[in-house]
Amino acid sequence: MTAPLIMVGAGHAHLVALRGWAEQGYRAPPGSVLISPEPFAWYSGMMPGLLAGRWRAEQCRIELAPLCRATGMTLSSGQLVRLEADARLLTLASGEQLRTELLSLNSGAANPAPAQNDGSLTVIGAKPFGDLQQHWMHWRRSGSPARLAILGGGAAAVELALALQQSLSTCQILVLCANRLLGGHPPRAARLIRSLFHRRNIELHEGVTVTAIRNGCLQSASTPPLAAEAVILATGAAPAVWQADSNLATDPAGFIQIADTLQSQSHPRIFASGDCAALADCPRSGVYAVRQGPVLGANLRATLDKQSSLQHYQPQPRALALLATADDQALACYGPLALRSRAALMLKDRLDTRFMRSLQRD
Ligand SMILES: Cc1cc2nc3c(=O)[nH]c(=O)nc-3n(C[C@H](O)[C@H](O)[C@H](O)COP(=O)(O)OP(=O)(O)OC[C@H]3O[C@@H](n4cnc5c(N)ncnc54)[C@H](O)[C@@H]3O)c2cc1C
Repeated sequence: MTAPLIMVGAGHAHLVALRGWAEQGYRAPPGSVLISPEPFAWYSGMMPGLLAGRWRAEQCRIELAPLCRATGMTLSSGQLVRLEADARLLTLASGEQLRTELLSLNSGAANPAPAQNDGSLTVIGAKPFGDLQQHWMHWRRSGSPARLAILGGGAAAVELALALQQSLSTCQILVLCANRLLGGHPPRAARLIRSLFHRRNIELHEGVTVTAIRNGCLQSASTPPLAAEAVILATGAAPAVWQADSNLATDPAGFIQIADTLQSQSHPRIFASGDCAALADCPRSGVYAVRQGPVLGANLRATLDKQSSLQHYQPQPRALALLATADDQALACYGPLALRSRAALMLKDRLDTRFMRSLQRD
C-alpha cells in the first residue's frame, strides 16, 4: 500500500507545519504517517536549561500523539535507515518498508565525530537529546565523570558547558574548539564567554582539532593528549548516512539540496527542511527551521490538494540568538551586538515557553 504522505522526523519545521494544519482545521488524507523514533520531540532551545536544572524534562518536549490526532496523521514509531528516492521507498530500522506518494524529511543532522576512536571514552552526541539526557540523569544519580570534554565552539557547546558545569559540580569541564570560540557571533560575545568560562573554571582550548580518541585521551596536532572520561559532541551538523545513498541531489557536504519551495532539487515530490537540507543563505539552526514550517505546511497541503502554486521561503538576513548561561542571565547576540543581561534571560524564557505552549494540545 502506498501512503499519501509520509513525514520523517518531528523536527521544528514539521511541528510548526502540523500546528498550522491543526489551527486551520486541515486533516491530512487517511493513511498519512509521521515517523519518529520517540513519541515526543525535544525542544533544543530549552535543553541547556534542562541540563542546568532549570526545567523538568516534560517542560522541554512536545507530545506528538495529540498533534497527530488533530491533523489526521498516524504516529508511527521508527527510524529511517534507507531511502530510495526514485521510488519513494523507505526502509526503517525495524526492516519495515513503506512507499509514499509524497515525502517530507525533517530529521535533523548528525554530530561530526573525530575520525579515529578506539572506544576508550564514552562519546555522546549533543543529539539525540534523549540519549544525552539519559547520560546526564545517570551522572546526577551515580556520580559524574571527573573530566568531561565538550567538542565544539558554537552556541550549543557554550550552553552545554555552562549548564553542565552548573549541575555537575564535581566535574571538570573542558571545551575544545577547532577554530575561535563563537566564530559566527560578534567578537564581544566570545570575550564575554571566555571571561565567564574563566570565572566558572571551565577549561577552554581554542584552535584544537581533535582528530582521534585514543587511550582515554583526545588527540590533536596542536596540544599534548588531553585526558577525559567522557566526551560530548557539539560539533555542528553532519548529514545522516542514508542521505548519501538516496539518489537525492545533495550539496558537496551531503545535505539535501532544496529549492526555495523546500522541494528537493532532484525529486520535487520530496520535501526537506531544517538541518538535513541545504538552501543558499540559510544557516542551520532551530530559528530557521521554525520559519520554514508555515511554508512547508502550505506547500505540502497544496501538493496533496493537487494545486500547482507553491509558496517560497526566504531566509531572514539575521536572527536574534539567545544563549542561556546557566545563571540568572543570558547572552543576546544580534548582528554585531552582544549583551549579557537578566532581561535577555527573561526574553528567552518567554519566547521558549510561548513556543512550547503553541505546540501542546490535549
Ligand atoms: C544543545 C543545543 C542547543 C541549541 N539551541 C538552539 C537555540 O537556542 N536556537 C536555535 O535556533 N538552535 C539551537 N540549536 C540548534 C537546533 O537544535 C537545530 O538547528 C534544530 O533542532 C534543527 O531542527 P530540525 O527541524 O532540522 O530538526 P531537529 O530539531 O533536529 O529534529 C529532528 C527530528 O528527527 C528525528 N529523527 C532523526 N533521525 C531520524 C530518522 N532517521 N528517522 C526518523 N526520525 C529521525 C529526531 O528524533 C528529531 O525528533 C541547538 C542545538 C543544540 C545541540
